[in-house]
Amino acid sequence: MSARAWGGLACIGLLAGFAQIAQGADRSDGTENAVADKPLFNDVHFHLSSYVQRGITPSQYLEMAGDRVGRVAMFGIPLQQKWDPFVSGERAPDYYLRSDAALYYYSFVDAAIAMAYRSLTEAQKARIDPMITGFNPTDMYAADHIRRVLLTFPGVFAGIGEFSVHKEFVSSKVTGHTASLRNPALGRILEAVAEIGLVAILHCDIDVVRPGAVNVPRTTMNCCACSGRIPPPQ
Ligand SMILES: [Zn+2]
Repeated sequence: MSARAWGGLACIGLLAGFAQIAQGADRSDGTENAVADKPLFNDVHFHLSSYVQRGITPSQYLEMAGDRVGRVAMFGIPLQQKWDPFVSGERAPDYYLRSDAALYYYSFVDAAIAMAYRSLTEAQKARIDPMITGFNPTDMYAADHIRRVLLTFPGVFAGIGEFSVHKEFVSSKVTGHTASLRNPALGRILEAVAEIGLVAILHCDIDVVRPGAVNVPRTTMNCCACSGRIPPPQ
């Protein structure tokens, strides 16, 4: 098997693991009975809001999903696309590919998600696993933010993510230091997640957009080191 194929498998393996976590998770209050009897699948990846913090409500999502989706891991986007008038003029950008202006971490997203979740009925809440995303994965204080959000909104959040480490066209636009799987701040985040007992969903491209004639995808080895479980490419 080629190194590139290993890289692809690594990504799929991580996603499959998260899906199993979502399916296997249980609710101690017994409200799982509110979920449709036989949904087609559980959704481990749904952004309720966009890069300009706009989107639909959780109720609108559930209406759209109907009984085809059992439970959903729901989160915002931790990054805000800046509308810089010196770059974009009057054309308000609504996506990171629509402007050269920077993206910045928008911590209020966690409060927005928590309040949206709290507005739901108990039956609706039983289908949604809100996630914390509003932290900077290069900041050694990020784990403090996660703990603070949990204490401010007790009983709301099930995990962290989806947040990005390496992401095409995004990583280079984020203000400040570029995220990395080797960054000790990410280690502190994952240690906190393990200690608390949260699920973590992270986005990490396996390679750069134009890798050239390189055998091993750029981030594969760091993915292996970070997870500690995926066999390295041969
Ligand atoms: Zn995503």
